[in-house]
Order: sequence, then C-alpha cells, then structure tokens
Amino acid sequence: MKTYDKLYINGAWVKPVGTGTIDARCASTEEVVTRIPEGVKEDAERAVAAARAAFEGWSNTPVAVRSEYLARLAAGMEARQKDVALAIATEVGMPIKMANAIQASLPIVAAKTYAELVKNYAFEETVGTSLVVREAIGVVACITPWNFPINQIMLKVAPALAAGCTVILKPSEVAPTTAFILAEIIDELKLPAGVFNLVTGYGPVVGEVLASHPEVDMVSFTGSTRAGRRVAELAAGTIKRVALELGGKSPHVICEDADLEKAVKAGVNECYLNSGQACIAPSRMLAPRSKYEEVVALAKKAAESFTVGDPINGDVKLGPLISAVQRDRVRDFIKKGVAEGARLVTGGAEVPEGLDKGYYVKPTVFADVNNDMTIAREEIFGPVLAIIPYDTEEDAIRIANDTIYGLGGNVWAGTKEHATAVAKKIRTGQISVNGGRYNPLAPFGGYKQSGLGREAGKFGLEEFLEVKSLQL
Ligand code: NAD
Repeated sequence: MKTYDKLYINGAWVKPVGTGTIDARCASTEEVVTRIPEGVKEDAERAVAAARAAFEGWSNTPVAVRSEYLARLAAGMEARQKDVALAIATEVGMPIKMANAIQASLPIVAAKTYAELVKNYAFEETVGTSLVVREAIGVVACITPWNFPINQIMLKVAPALAAGCTVILKPSEVAPTTAFILAEIIDELKLPAGVFNLVTGYGPVVGEVLASHPEVDMVSFTGSTRAGRRVAELAAGTIKRVALELGGKSPHVICEDADLEKAVKAGVNECYLNSGQACIAPSRMLAPRSKYEEVVALAKKAAESFTVGDPINGDVKLGPLISAVQRDRVRDFIKKGVAEGARLVTGGAEVPEGLDKGYYVKPTVFADVNNDMTIAREEIFGPVLAIIPYDTEEDAIRIANDTIYGLGGNVWAGTKEHATAVAKKIRTGQISVNGGRYNPLAPFGGYKQSGLGREAGKFGLEEFLEVKSLQL
C-alpha cells in the first residue's frame, strides 16, 4: 500500500492539520492500495492563503515563462506516464493498455497544448477607442472526479496556470494517486511557491470550504450534477465565477441510411469505455424501427465480444467499476430496467462468471426501452446500453433532446452532410459525426444540466480570464 501523509501547500509537502486518513481501493482486488490525508477546513484555508499570496507574482510572470513551465510539466508527465497508467488501472479499473493510451496520454497533450497556445494568445485587443485586456481571474479552486482523474485535473490546472491564475486542487478521494504524481512533478519543476497547491479530503468538507471561500475567485468543478449544484449555490455567496462539467445521458443516433455495422459497433465501444464510467458515454442508442432488430442483434454481438477481467494483468477490454458503491448502483439500475419492462438482450445484474472479487458488472444491453424508463433517464455510469426505437428522424431528434442533460452525442448517417444536419439539431455541447474523433483543441462542455462553460483549447483558457476595458 502506498501512503501519502502530506499535502502540497505553498511549494512544500506539509503535515496536514486534519489527522484523519482516507483509503482508496484496488478496483479488481478490493484491497486498500492508497492512503491519503483527510484534509480539513484549516488545510483548505492554508492553501487558499498561499495561492492568494502567490497570485500577484504569477499573474505578472511573462507569458513565455509560464509557457516554459507548462512545457516542462508536459515532459514531467511524459516521464511518469507508466506510473499514471498503472495508478488508473489499479484505482479506476480501466484496462492498462487503454489507460496508458487514453488516460495517461491526454494530460500530456493538454499541458503541451497550453504551452503552445498561450504563447500566441491575444491577451490585448483594440476595440474602437478602447484597449481590451484579458487578465487572470485570480485564485482558482479545482474540484475533480475519479473517472478520468488526471485528464479532468489537467484540463483545469494547465489553462489556469497558463492564464496566470494560482490553483488549489481538491481531487477525488476515490482515485487520488495521479493528483499526488502531478504534485510531485510540479514540486520538481520549482514552480514558485503557492502557485499550485494540493489539498485532499472529502467534498462536503474541503470542497465546500473552497467553493464558499471569499479569497477564491473562481471554482472549476467536474463531477456529478448533484455536487455541481451545491458548489454553484455556495459560490453564489461571493459571486464567484463557476465552471461546471457535469453528468450526461448522451444519445447515439443511428439514421436509417447509416452503415449499421460500423455505427452499432462504435456505439457499444464508446458506451463501454472505462466500464461506462465516462461523462459522454452514449448510453442511449436510438435506432430506426425499420432496422431495429438488426441493430439489437449487432449490439448483442458487439457487447458479447467484450472480455471482462483483470485490468492490470489480463488482456481484457472491460475492467471492473471503481467501487462497491458504484457496482451496486449499476446492478440496481439493471434490475430496474428489467422491472420496468425493458428486454434484457445480454448481460444482467449477476456477478460475471469467475469474478467474485472486484467490482465487476456484466456488459449489458437492453432493447425495447422507451425514453421514460429510469435506464433511459438517469446517468448509470456503468456498462449498460439502452436501445430505443424511433419512427421518424424528427422523432429521433425529439427523443435525443428529451433529457435534462446536454453533454455529448453521436450521429451516424449515410453521408456526412446528413449526419451533420441531424447533429445540429441536438442540444449538446459536443457531438461526433460519423465517428469524428475527439479533438483536444475543440471546446468541451455541456448544455442544460450538464454544465456551465467550456474546457479545452482557447475556450478553456478564456474560462480563467477576466476582461477589462481601458477607455483611451
Ligand atoms: P462527485 O460529484 O461525487 O465528485 C466530484 C468531486 O466533487 C470530488 O472531488 C468530490 O469530493 C467533490 N464533491 C462532492 N461533494 C461535494 C460538495 N458538496 N462540495 C464540493 N465538492 C464536492 O462525482 P464523481 O462520482 O467523482 O464523478 C462522476 C461524475 O462526474 C459523473 O456524473 C460524470 O458524468 C461527471 N463527469 C463529468 C465530466 C464532464 O466533463 N462533464 C467529466 C468527468 C466526469
């Protein structure tokens, strides 16, 4: 077991005021593998004071110097890529090859992107007789989830530092190791003291102190809609800027003229990525009634091709879920799907064969789902696909939009033009057309209850900037 007994505050590893600890478990063995400090109010306050004191110096540091730090951060992350992948395979349960290719590589891309982007960003522009200046917003609290732990951290920390903000990071207590790896790298970079601070602990304690603290100018939160709402309520007390990246229930729309084989396979693969624990998981597959049974059969075949097992030593496509809580929640959703009358095509709520230990759930597909069923409305965060029939394309668009969420989605059609026309009618922050790939420079965020604001690329940098007009 790895024990971290210090927090990173004001450029040094310090003993926490809080004396409690929090344990994180291995998703496949259920053993405790990581122990971290349970920070308390005083720890959070100490970090805020350090970040506040460092703000003037860091925000006035030349952009070229900030860019250089980010380039070194990217190199540091690259050097620790294997450690990051192993930590994620262990704590989150994503198969290690995938964890390495996706979870451990995206943060390197993000740091590199901001190292470059900020060099050419126009912090000043002339508008008529005014000079419009973009300045760092100030002290930023970053509160992050467990499912893509270091990617979600880097999408905040890299642009915040690039913008000239100082940061207090409160990572998820459920998968904390990668945040400590990041702090170790930052410590080696000799970033000025107080520019980056790490405080671990529980959301309702450390997270709430940060969200309501008068010396924090902005809170950037990724996590559940439930906790995001609470963060926004607390932040309202001091009119902080709030960025929220929340949950989703994304549609995967298959038009009648789509290449069914490709469209269904892509949908199942994306729905099951990270055992379904992805905010943009396309968990509602919308299929034309005329081709419904064909879609269901293809989805069954694709789902049954998923080998389930040990994410570290096995050559598998699907690992366990992150925790017992999450596993039990997902199994309950599967039971609810059956109880509400959906047709269980494959999978189910039972323990996958031979996998009594570890938080495993069978890759599951439901057919004959209507959009009012619980499994079509709630974010399940597990490998559970719901296939919903539709009659006309208008009907498909209506069903796709009939959700409180608006994060992601996919459209598959016979031509790019057809798919694009449908994609434009879906109210989500991003949508992939005929398998269009994730673009780290494109803005990422949600409509409706999926959030506020955008991460990644230029839009992600602007989240951390204030705008000032100088009338000349
Ligand atoms: P969560 O909301 O339980 O926790 C997220 C973070 O918030 C953790 O650090 C937690 O400690 C903290 N927190 C919890 N309660 C808090 C409170 N009252 N005040 C302040 N902080 C609090 O979410 P999770 O289970 O870690 O992550 C899964 C959720 O994250 C899913 O809903 C998923 O869709 C969402 N997510 C969204 C995106 C996106 O970009 N939109 C990306 C990844 C995950």
